[in-house]
Amino acid sequence: MILVTGGAGYIGSHTVRELRSRGADVVVYDNLVTGHIEAVGDAPFVKGDIFDKDLLVKTFQDYNVDSVVHFAAYSLVGESMTNPAKYYRNNVAGTLSLLDAMLEAGVKYLVFSSSAATYGDTGDGLITEDSPQRPTSVYGQTKLMMEQLMSDYDKAYGMKYVALRYFNAAGAHISGEIGEDHHPESHLIPIILQAALGLRSHIGIFGDDYPTRDGTCIRDYIHITDLADAHIRALDYLKSGGKSTYYNLGNGNGFSVKEVIETARRVTGIDIPAKVEGRRAGDPATLVASSEKIKRELGWDPQFDTLEEIVASAWKWHSSHPHGFAK
Ligand code: UDP
Repeated sequence: MILVTGGAGYIGSHTVRELRSRGADVVVYDNLVTGHIEAVGDAPFVKGDIFDKDLLVKTFQDYNVDSVVHFAAYSLVGESMTNPAKYYRNNVAGTLSLLDAMLEAGVKYLVFSSSAATYGDTGDGLITEDSPQRPTSVYGQTKLMMEQLMSDYDKAYGMKYVALRYFNAAGAHISGEIGEDHHPESHLIPIILQAALGLRSHIGIFGDDYPTRDGTCIRDYIHITDLADAHIRALDYLKSGGKSTYYNLGNGNGFSVKEVIETARRVTGIDIPAKVEGRRAGDPATLVASSEKIKRELGWDPQFDTLEEIVASAWKWHSSHPHGFAK
């Protein structure tokens, strides 16, 4: 049995679907502060906080859990700069509570959502797992500290983990039944599509004076179902005796904010209004992944490898659920 913390959230709920569609037994553990019960569907669900170590231990025992996929975290770069306390407390101290519950219950395997934000500003080249980790945001710093906790728990207690460093998770399940729904929304593609739907007046471009081809930030967008698939491969790897490790997850192609807006205009057929605004604190200019390591070692092979397909899947969700999961 696999326990998924944050399984009601965006990446968590898509991973739960993928795991269950392949016959895995899953229990979702989420406090529903940012997650949506509707995204859990009919998967077994425990409402709980990662700070509630006793409830975690009880859930591990009740469901005979042998592995954890850990998504529960706050994940907004901008907010992490203005409210670092929230990020250190929840992401770092919360993960410590989870690891301690795992130790107490004898749960040995952990797949963890880390982030490209752990690298910070690395220049223009593809980022490999050996690139220096120097986060530019508190959010990135918390994810790096979480990786460090796991590494030390492996050395001391033999807990095995895979840290997956996501680049920009995007898109929605092909069914269009679940997708991204944050309040407030801060991610680029959902905001562009909300502007397409007339729910916002325009998309604000956060800075056009970065050292990039058109002055706007470049990111590597990776489809949520491809991310989910990587978690399943990582779990299989650990259960077959693999050593603790870490992998980048991206498509290896960078797109600027302006290019993403152009793609969304093509996909939707709507002339989405855009305006240049100031930079957002904590944003590196360019983040593009080399994912060769996970391709080589775990056979991961992203299926949604064009930005058009990624934006089209997001559009299917947003255009059919303009207000997300809210009725
Ligand atoms: N961005 C933007 N306008 C928005 C939201 C995001 O220009 O309303 C930019 C942001 O500065 C970054 C990129 O889009 O360069 C992706 O941001 P997002 O928040 O989606 O993901 P992040 O890279 O922070 O994980």
